[in-house]
Amino acid sequence: MALIECPACSKRMSSKAAACPHCNFKSVGVSNEQRQRELQQVMQRKRERLMSQSMLALLIAIAAFTYFFMQQPESGSWQLHLANGGMLVGLVWFVINRIRMLLLKVRS
Ligand SMILES: [Zn+2]
Repeated sequence: MALIECPACSKRMSSKAAACPHCNFKSVGVSNEQRQRELQQVMQRKRERLMSQSMLALLIAIAAFTYFFMQQPESGSWQLHLANGGMLVGLVWFVINRIRMLLLKVRS
């Protein structure tokens, strides 16, 4: 039994396994076209998940910014820290998701 790289998620899986334990990609017992279609679907699902995550991240950043803008919390207050933290987390998460989407595109 050998370990191969899953064509869909690049994680290690057994060459004898019927489906990848990480992403459920079926590699055995299917024709080449079916495999290609399956691969496309896995990629599509991954893209959609990253897309909705980056939307959520953007939403957090916008909500935090809106709160900061409307309420103008005093400097040093926990509200200000919350708004700043929300903006930072949202933006960083958004950028990370964008990079992951880019990497996904480059690989496929
Ligand atoms: Zn996989």
